[in-house]
Amino acid sequence: MRVVIALGGNAFNQPGEPINQETHLKNVDLAARVIAKVVQEGHQVVITHGNGPQIGYLAELQRGDGAFKLDVLNAATQGMLGYFIVSALDRYLGSGRSVAIVTRVEVDCNDPAFKTPTKPIGPVYSEEQAIELAKRYGWIFKQDPRGGWRRVVPSPTPRKILEVDVIKQLLESGYVVVATGGGGIPMCNGVGVEGVIDKDLASSLLAIELGADFLVILTDVDGIYINFKKPSQRKLDVVRVDELEKYMSEGHFPPGSMGPKVQAVINFVRKTGKKAAVGALERGYEVFKGISGTQVVP
Ligand code: ADP
Ligand code: MG
Repeated sequence: MRVVIALGGNAFNQPGEPINQETHLKNVDLAARVIAKVVQEGHQVVITHGNGPQIGYLAELQRGDGAFKLDVLNAATQGMLGYFIVSALDRYLGSGRSVAIVTRVEVDCNDPAFKTPTKPIGPVYSEEQAIELAKRYGWIFKQDPRGGWRRVVPSPTPRKILEVDVIKQLLESGYVVVATGGGGIPMCNGVGVEGVIDKDLASSLLAIELGADFLVILTDVDGIYINFKKPSQRKLDVVRVDELEKYMSEGHFPPGSMGPKVQAVINFVRKTGKKAAVGALERGYEVFKGISGTQVVP
């Protein structure tokens, strides 16, 4: 089976932990163990991952005149996080079995997302700081629901994975491939642009383009809930894609967290007729086996 496994922020950092080498090294071990178990069953595996905290961190260090732009910072995070993942996989699979590919993703130059930035990156600022930074660097800020202000950047829709052929060839040669990290680098007409593509939507597109049999999204919650955090909340164990679309239209899944994951699995299952799953990283192998998380079926 060909499977795409998407890792969330918790694969590298737990809430409240600093963003540094030690936390990444410690946390990535769990993801590597899960992935290795799947690989050892003989499946072709592609790993994708988010980069929100890391790109925000690099953008903080890199600001003002001469700063590298978001496309380059995205490439940097694909390198650093890819390095963490392949090094951790070496411990369980032996060396030389996996490779990280800096991946670029075509977007529409006229994507309306460029006019309305929505994706928060970096830390929370006070109102005075936000006003100052907006003036100094031209950054755009939005009020955070949890208080304070955060920088927001455009999040265009992924259209085409530019490195898909080489990823396919590596899979067929037996390598585990890390690709489309942080949603991939957004490219319009061959030029990198300022923006951050949603990693779940990019993972779904990659899975479709690779002809994958299964899309598995691993995160910090044990599945997709309806009425999440309400007394009537209910976890979906197995759900048909049309039911999930109905729940989506009823507003159960907020943008920026569960919304894009649900959209990603809907896109994949609709397009391929194969199944997808969302579940907890700690139970990643069981999610893959279909006995944990939310399993989304055609
Ligand atoms: P990741 O870093 O893995 O992409 P996110 O933080 O973006 O993860 O999304 C996972 C979070 O989505 C969970 O921690 C949970 O709090 C939140 N969430 C919001 N709505 C729901 C829902 N309906 N069902 C499950 N989780 C939800
Ligand atoms: Mg998260």
